[in-house]
Amino acid sequence: MEYDLVIKAKQLVTLRGGVRVKEKMKELNIIEDGMVAIKDKRISYVGEKKTVNSKEEISTGVAMPSFIDAHTHLLFYGSREDEFEMRIEGLSYNEILKKGGGIWRTVDETKKAGDAEILKVAKERLCYLLEHGTTVVEIKSGYGIDPKEEIRELRLINELKNNSELTIVPTLLAHLKKDKKWLKDFIEIIPFVAYNNLAKFVDSFCDLGALSYEDTDVIFAEAKKYGLGLKAHVGELEDIGCGKLVEKYDLASIDHIVYLDEKSLEQAIKKGTCGVLLPATTFSLMQNHANAKKYIEKGLIVALASDFSPASWISDMQSVISIACRELKMTQAECIAASTINAAYSLGIHNDYGSIEEGKFADITTFDVPNYKWIGYTLGYNHVEIVIKHGKKVLER
Ligand SMILES: [Zn+2]
Repeated sequence: MEYDLVIKAKQLVTLRGGVRVKEKMKELNIIEDGMVAIKDKRISYVGEKKTVNSKEEISTGVAMPSFIDAHTHLLFYGSREDEFEMRIEGLSYNEILKKGGGIWRTVDETKKAGDAEILKVAKERLCYLLEHGTTVVEIKSGYGIDPKEEIRELRLINELKNNSELTIVPTLLAHLKKDKKWLKDFIEIIPFVAYNNLAKFVDSFCDLGALSYEDTDVIFAEAKKYGLGLKAHVGELEDIGCGKLVEKYDLASIDHIVYLDEKSLEQAIKKGTCGVLLPATTFSLMQNHANAKKYIEKGLIVALASDFSPASWISDMQSVISIACRELKMTQAECIAASTINAAYSLGIHNDYGSIEEGKFADITTFDVPNYKWIGYTLGYNHVEIVIKHGKKVLER
């Protein structure tokens, strides 16, 4: 048999062995002087180096599953660098929001921009992600607020999905309530979104100043009826009902969880709900960080994501890992497990992505470093050498 591509690595970081919890977060299942062979987009051999026939061969220092960014707001227009300055000077997130800034400003700028303009900047952002080793990304709507605008954003995300080298997972996000009528209007688009396959998940920003537990309950009940997956922004500012949501619904993930009641945590652990931590956001907003060490010790399945948005302009997973090491006190190994196999689990795609194992898609990135610990150890360096997407070399630096 002739393989399409063979990668020989001094350190082949496989992440074989399933989703990571507790102590297992530190086990990356590394093969020293390992080899991975690819045929028809998928991985067909992982193990010791050996001599095989292949159309192409790559030799590298470190090879790992490419990063999976399980939580982004990548589709938006405009920027908010002046608000960042206000935050440095001491204004809170909700104070800026009340001034008509924050999400409202991005909603306005996105609404005014043409489709082509939005797609252009979104494509540039996707290129940047790929250059930094991310090959799967979840993108939420949410800067529409008006249901009609939310549909427009989902259409744009799907246009990116159909024309990108990355795998894109679209999510319909209920971000903020405009008025009393809003919830009823929002609910009405859910069947349309489901029938037209515009989103895999429905997400709700269930937090202070955003949507209540009751609003989220109504949205999730409707989304569940139409077979959509569920995710929730919870505990960024306060835990206002995460445990009840986790108990009532099969959530794919609970994201942010800076604040999480003991009961909510127990419930999430019991149900195997993934906790997606977003340290780049708390770093940018200069807020308290999630208690990652406690979550991992107790047995929560922990993933990391960028939460890239105009509020926190950090989108590469190497930086997210570097921040998680410093601020969340997660080890490099824990961060890598959280950004690959566990991130795949949070999107329900762990049977196809997130590790280097026979049968999975060959989404692999090679890094020009002596060992994987350099990712996390450094900050602001891009160590990516080659990115392979579905068995094809899509980027070489
Ligand atoms: Zn978010």
